[in-house]
Amino acid sequence: MQNAALEALGLAGEWSYEAIDLDPVDFDPRVRELAEGDFVGANATIPHKEAALAIADESSDAASEIGAANTLRFADGLIRAENTDAPGLLAALPGPVRGKDALVLGAGGSGRAAVWALAGEGAAVSVWNRTTERAEEVVRDLSGAGTATRADGLLAPVSTEQARANAYQVIVNCTAVGMGEEDPFEELPLDPERFDASIVLVDLVYGGSETRLVEEARRRGAAVVEGLEILVRQGAESLRIWTGLEPPLDVMRKAARDG
Ligand code: NAP
Repeated sequence: MQNAALEALGLAGEWSYEAIDLDPVDFDPRVRELAEGDFVGANATIPHKEAALAIADESSDAASEIGAANTLRFADGLIRAENTDAPGLLAALPGPVRGKDALVLGAGGSGRAAVWALAGEGAAVSVWNRTTERAEEVVRDLSGAGTATRADGLLAPVSTEQARANAYQVIVNCTAVGMGEEDPFEELPLDPERFDASIVLVDLVYGGSETRLVEEARRRGAAVVEGLEILVRQGAESLRIWTGLEPPLDVMRKAARDG
């Protein structure tokens, strides 16, 4: 996806994007090596997102408040940490979320970014997680003083019963439930009967085919944002940070789909 974008931007001769498989113990020395070499930046994914924040000399509000970075920029001898999961999610949504009731399912790395993004845009965000304590922790962390200026939305952990009973206009699945054999309507507090045209369903999970959640939501008329679009949008925000150029979204979408 990034290489296709670099080609479309006319940068393919001098720029390239490559995957580097790193053991966590090698993260710091290797990233410093990249920063001192010819690299302009990097993406970091699980399990390196916290280490990517920790190694940085500077970090954006999103990265430091979420507590994780997925994008690093190397410039002027400094390492700067960013989080494009949050702006990527917001960019993929069909409209503003201010004043809407949102349910975030999951309290892992992507759940934290989704909560930060939606609360910061003024949604009332309920957080559900299989392990309740982690949902409480996310709410505690992101309702803190550091986020007070952004998180002007309401933020609350919800139980399975509450999540099933309440009505939400925006539902974001940030759990790992989706591509496997499991039934999302068993594992997650969602009732497919409640999906209708008033709902936006975002499923971060992506794979070779439509997830069951996406399929069901689409069939019932809900607006749907698929995981691949989220992947493209966060990648596009990273590309913008590294190059300062407008990302070619359609090229990136096609490459992500073909990949
Ligand atoms: P993570 O930090 O490992 O968190 C995993 C989350 O899934 C936790 O909240 C976990 O709950 C929950 N979970 C796992 N199995 C479950 C089950 N059977 N029932 C209910 N909840 C379950 O992972 P992450 O980085 O947040 O990623 C979550 C998902 O989003 C993954 O599928 C990942 O591929 C996808 N993702 C997509 C994009 C994109 O660009 N589209 C970006 C990031 C992530 P517990 O706390 O109870 O374990």
